[in-house]
Amino acid sequence: MTDSKNTSSLCKRCHAPLTRDEVSLTKKLVDRRAHEFLCIPCLARSFEMTEEECHALILRFREERCPLFL
Ligand SMILES: [Zn+2]
Repeated sequence: MTDSKNTSSLCKRCHAPLTRDEVSLTKKLVDRRAHEFLCIPCLARSFEMTEEECHALILRFREERCPLFL
């Protein structure tokens, strides 16, 4: 049993370790039930946004009290 390792995810594309915000942002932008996640630079590239816009989105979702970002 290796349940304790479940907490950290890696970016599907570049294998960078992901923060909870990055996991949540992937769910929000891609699919709520996604089980593969992207880091901010890879998300930005996929959605043709800047990394700053990704961070701004995270802030906005948190301000809207989106349950994924609490
Ligand atoms: Zn990545």
